[in-house]
Amino acid sequence: MTTTTTTMDDGVYDAIVVGAGVEGSATAYHLAKQHQRTLLIEQFPLPHSRGSSHGQTRITRKAHADDFYTAMMADAYQMMFQLEKEAGVKLYRKTGCLYIGPADSDTLNNVESSLQKHGCVHEKISSSEMKARFPGFAVSADMCAILDSEGGILRADKMISAFQTMFIRFGGHLRDGEPVESIQPGNIVTVKTSKGLYKTRNVAIAAGPWASKLLKPLGLNLPLKCKKILVMYWKERTRGSYSVDRNFPVFIHKMKHPTAIYGLPSDEYPGLVKVCLHHGPEIDPDLRDEVDVTWVKDTVREYVTKHMPGLESVPSVVESCIYTNTPDSHFILDRHPRWSNILIAAGFSGSGFKISPVVGKAVCELIMKTTPSYDLSYFRINRFAPTSRM
Ligand SMILES: Cc1cc2nc3c(=O)[nH]c(=O)nc-3n(C[C@H](O)[C@H](O)[C@H](O)COP(=O)(O)OP(=O)(O)OC[C@H]3O[C@@H](n4cnc5c(N)ncnc54)[C@H](O)[C@@H]3O)c2cc1C
Repeated sequence: MTTTTTTMDDGVYDAIVVGAGVEGSATAYHLAKQHQRTLLIEQFPLPHSRGSSHGQTRITRKAHADDFYTAMMADAYQMMFQLEKEAGVKLYRKTGCLYIGPADSDTLNNVESSLQKHGCVHEKISSSEMKARFPGFAVSADMCAILDSEGGILRADKMISAFQTMFIRFGGHLRDGEPVESIQPGNIVTVKTSKGLYKTRNVAIAAGPWASKLLKPLGLNLPLKCKKILVMYWKERTRGSYSVDRNFPVFIHKMKHPTAIYGLPSDEYPGLVKVCLHHGPEIDPDLRDEVDVTWVKDTVREYVTKHMPGLESVPSVVESCIYTNTPDSHFILDRHPRWSNILIAAGFSGSGFKISPVVGKAVCELIMKTTPSYDLSYFRINRFAPTSRM
C-alpha cells in the first residue's frame, strides 16, 4: 500500500506519523486535510492483525463515567459521520449501549450524570425492565443499567481504511512494511526506517503496543503495560436471538472483579455474539501468543453461563488483540517533555477506537499550534512524573 502522490519541495515533511493503527491514521487524516505535508509510516504490510486496531467491530458510546470523554464524544460522532460522507462508506450502526452495574454503584451514577450534563438521550432501566426488554440477559435484582441511546457498533476495519484512503486522497504519503528504527530529535527531526531516512518538522508517535520501544531511546520511560485480550465469539442457541434486528444492544457490564465484561450483538459473524473480558495477561507485543489465557476463557465462560443463557458455553471463535494500558486508564496525548515537536499518542487502555477522530484532531492542533479544541490536561505525561524521568 505504499504511495507517493505528491513531491516534496525542500525534502522536509511538515509531519511524520509513526504507526498506521486507528490513532495514527486519524492523525494523518487530519494533518493532510489541513494541507500539512505528511508521511504515515507503518512497520507491517497493511492491513495487519498484530496491534490493537484490527477486527470488524468496536463499541461506540457517549456513556462514560468521566464526563470529559462524553464531551469529546459529541465531536467524535460528528467527525465519524463526516468521514462516512467523504469516504462513501457506512461506519456506524445504532443499537444503544447498555451500561450495567450494581444499582448503587458510583460508576453508574457518574455515567448517568455525564449523559444528563451533555444532553444525551438515555434511560435508567431496572433489572425487571431489563429482563422484559432484553430477554437474552439474566441479571440479578440488585443490578440496573443506563441505556445510552446513541451507543452502537463501529465498523472498525472500514473506519481505519477510510481514514487511510482519505489521507492519501488529501495528498498524504503512506509507506507500510517499513519499521521506524530510530528518531533523531532536533528542529528538523530525522526518522530512520528499514528503507531510508526522512526529514520532518514534527513527529507524532502513535505506535500502540510498541510505543515504549520507540520512546525509551528518546529518554521517556512511560508506565505502559501491554495486555493480550481475547476476542471471543459465542454461538446463539437460537439463531438471531441476540441480533441487532431483535434490538439486542452493545453492552458493558461493570464488575468489581474483574474490571468489566463487554459484548456486541451477533452481526459480523451471523449467529455469533462477541463477549470479552476487559482484561488479560501482560505480554511483550512481539510474543503475543506465548502466554496462558485459560483463566480469561474461564472467566468469560462463567459470565456467559450465568448472564447470557441463550449462548453456548464454549466460544466458537477466538481471536487476539492488544491493549496498551496506563495506570489510570486515561490516554497519553502530549508533547515530549524535552522536544516539543515530538508528539505522543499512546496508552489508549482498551477504549481508544471510538474517540480516534478526536485524538487525530487534537494531535493535529498540537502540531499546527492552533487553539486546542479540547482540554488535554487529563492526558499529560507529567501525571506519571516519578516513572517518566528523562
Ligand atoms: C479486543 C479489543 C476490543 C476493543 N474494543 C474497543 C471498543 O469497543 N471501543 C473502543 O473505543 N476501543 C476499543 N478497543 C481499543 C482500541 O481498539 C484501541 O485503543 C486502538 O485501536 C488503539 O490504536 P493505536 O493506533 O494506538 O494502536 P495500534 O492499532 O496498535 O497501532 C499502532 C501501529 O503502530 C505500528 N508501529 C509500532 N511501532 C512501529 C515502528 N517502529 N515503525 C512503524 N510502525 C510502528 C504498529 O504496527 C501498529 O500498526 C479495543 C481493543 C481491543 C484489543
